[in-house]
Amino acid sequence: MVPSRLLRLRARLAPIAAMLNKMSRSCVFCKIVADDAPANIVYRDDQVTAFRDIHPVAPTHILIVPNKHIPSVNELTEEDAALIGHMFIIGRQLAVQDGVDQSGYRMIVNTGSHGGQTVFHLHLHLIGGQRMRFPMG
Ligand code: 5GP
Ligand code: ZN
Repeated sequence: MVPSRLLRLRARLAPIAAMLNKMSRSCVFCKIVADDAPANIVYRDDQVTAFRDIHPVAPTHILIVPNKHIPSVNELTEEDAALIGHMFIIGRQLAVQDGVDQSGYRMIVNTGSHGGQTVFHLHLHLIGGQRMRFPMG
């Protein structure tokens, strides 16, 4: 691409980049990951942070979030495949830690407004310790 076209493209993308940057700076889960907001953290490594939901819907209600800001499933790319797998593996580990692995549990990712997503930083809900209601939806 010729430099002038590149410059024009960069100028067009700048407001979008600024908006995304602002979103992550005001994102409550980014703040929890960065220790800028309080949370009951149950697990942390270089890829994910897990903490208890502030409004638990069951005895076990843990959120597993990527340390990097990804707004939702809609923004996932092929490069995130290992990260998503890791979120599930940590979820399973935490189910064992909370003693709900044998009784059973639910792992949910809500996406967008119809999916019931309220915090736009990707998160995996781990919910257990009571019989889940069914059907969903
Ligand atoms: P969603 O509806 O987006 O799938 O789930 C968001 C979840 O985040 C909700 O269950 C809500 O209770 C939880 N949540 C929202 N704000 C906070 C917070 O500041 N701290 C914690 N620990 N959980 C939060
Ligand atoms: Zn975030």
